[in-house]
Amino acid sequence: MSTAVYPGSFDPVTNGHLDIIHRASRLFDTLIVAVGRQVSKEPLFSTIERVEMLRAVTKNLPNVKVDSFDTLLAHYVQQQQANIVIRGLRAISDFDYEFQLALTIKKMDENIETMFMMTNSEYSFLSSSIVKEIARFGGCVQGLVPPLVAQQLRYRYLHGK
Ligand code: ADP
Repeated sequence: MSTAVYPGSFDPVTNGHLDIIHRASRLFDTLIVAVGRQVSKEPLFSTIERVEMLRAVTKNLPNVKVDSFDTLLAHYVQQQQANIVIRGLRAISDFDYEFQLALTIKKMDENIETMFMMTNSEYSFLSSSIVKEIARFGGCVQGLVPPLVAQQLRYRYLHGK
């Protein structure tokens, strides 16, 4: 049984993340999408909200589970009895951080492999930050995030927390 973990902030999940989830779910018996805590910045959505949005938009994918973690990624992966970490790559600008992360995971546990999936060209510019920036100023995020997420963004920026 192969199990892979796709970790990220998913604040919120975008169509770029969803594309990676769809493609990775075809490669492994189980794909765990794991919402991590962003240490460096305050998230817009709580961990529970991010998990709920991910669950809703992946409910048609039976081998995808959504979870959250608050530990070292390598420890979480071990705990799940997985040995593969999936990350997405959009541009050269992602490379430095992803390289550092992959080597750190390797240092923690040499049995864990990090595998990179190239973005779909349609989503190569897309990030959660860009989506939040557009939504904050009332722009249309249709086609960038699932409709449910667009709705949550609209609500959050209209009504606050
Ligand atoms: P993190 O804060 O851990 O980088 P993100 O939620 O921003 O978490 O992203 C999780 C993973 O998904 C990262 O590997 C990131 O490069 C990848 N990713 C984000 N947006 C896209 C996209 N549009 N296409 C492909 N991969 C993406």
